[in-house]
Amino acid sequence: MEAGSLTKAFEKAENLLRNANLDEVCKHSGASRSENNIIIRYFNNDFLILLPDVVFKTVYETSDNIVLTTVDKLLILHYLLSNGEEKTNGDFVGYKDLPGGMFYYSTYFKQGPNRIIKCFEDNPKGLYDISLSLGGEKLNYGDASVCLKIFPNIEIRIVLYREDVEFPKEAYILYKDDIINYLNLKDISMLSGEIAGRFSRMKRETKNENEIELHSLDKNFKYEIASRPGAGYFTRCFSCGTCTASCPVSEIDENFNPRMFIRRCLLGQRELVLSSKELWFCVQCYTCYARCPQDVRFTDVMAVLRDMAVEEGYISSTMMEKAKKIEKMIQNLRHSITEYTWMNIKGKKDNDMPGKLVSEFEKMIKELG
Ligand code: SF4
Ligand code: SF4
Repeated sequence: MEAGSLTKAFEKAENLLRNANLDEVCKHSGASRSENNIIIRYFNNDFLILLPDVVFKTVYETSDNIVLTTVDKLLILHYLLSNGEEKTNGDFVGYKDLPGGMFYYSTYFKQGPNRIIKCFEDNPKGLYDISLSLGGEKLNYGDASVCLKIFPNIEIRIVLYREDVEFPKEAYILYKDDIINYLNLKDISMLSGEIAGRFSRMKRETKNENEIELHSLDKNFKYEIASRPGAGYFTRCFSCGTCTASCPVSEIDENFNPRMFIRRCLLGQRELVLSSKELWFCVQCYTCYARCPQDVRFTDVMAVLRDMAVEEGYISSTMMEKAKKIEKMIQNLRHSITEYTWMNIKGKKDNDMPGKLVSEFEKMIKELG
């Protein structure tokens, strides 16, 4: 879904939830009420939705692997607002077998199964560790299979097959056929994309953590960072992931992960941090700075890391040129954000602006190659 349509769909769903009968919502969805707010379980984590502002919060601080994107939030709202009552058999079926599924299948396949195939093509058994940390259970189908509970009333199965002489490698996501009472086909397709995105993000993080070479760690790195103006509080980070969850750049590019940056700094991965191109992705919007429960001030830490990268010769002159260009784009972006906020305050909301900002971000990230 395009960024502009996503924003519109999200705003529509927010309004519907504000006006919905919460008892009915909870009865159909398996969510629970906490006064006038809702608690819903999604991917093994409980989220509290504060109403009427429709603000999402984690109930427990254990969800550092769960980053709620706008798509996640939209799926949660659509699930809560669903009211389908189709009679079904309770069987597990593929997307193509859902009513109308053939029509959207190729988009669906690209969003979900195809990415899952790529993620586990070298090691189908890798599906187990990742799925277990998402609350999944091992099954005994194909070369690797798991069952995952996405929402209280939505359970899925994922089955992987290795390539052999007769068949190519395959990944199937199977849904209980009553899923149509909770999500429409587009939502199911987006959900498959979110599952694939989580798998590849978690696989990458696990791989990076496993690949740490102890002899390359620099134990002084964190002290050097902390001694610089603006970064004095960064060792307070307790890895909650709030920064990543609220960062607009992380939402667009899953390789940009503020929590992971801090973690690498604390571990002493000097070279990995200072030479990474993601160091230049931050647009200094200060969202993470405002939301961090530990007052880590990540935006300022980023500025410190960039200074260190330049001082220590980690960036080439070409990269310097690109960084200057990006800085100019960031200034324009900040100007647009301020203008958007000001128009909002004056009640003249520009609904296309969030979409425009996203495409500006994307242009910038492309610029850095
Ligand atoms: S920087 Fe702050 S928000 Fe980010 S992980 Fe650390 S404590 Fe959480
Ligand atoms: S300041 Fe940088 S890291 Fe923090 S939320 Fe904004 S873009 Fe993300």
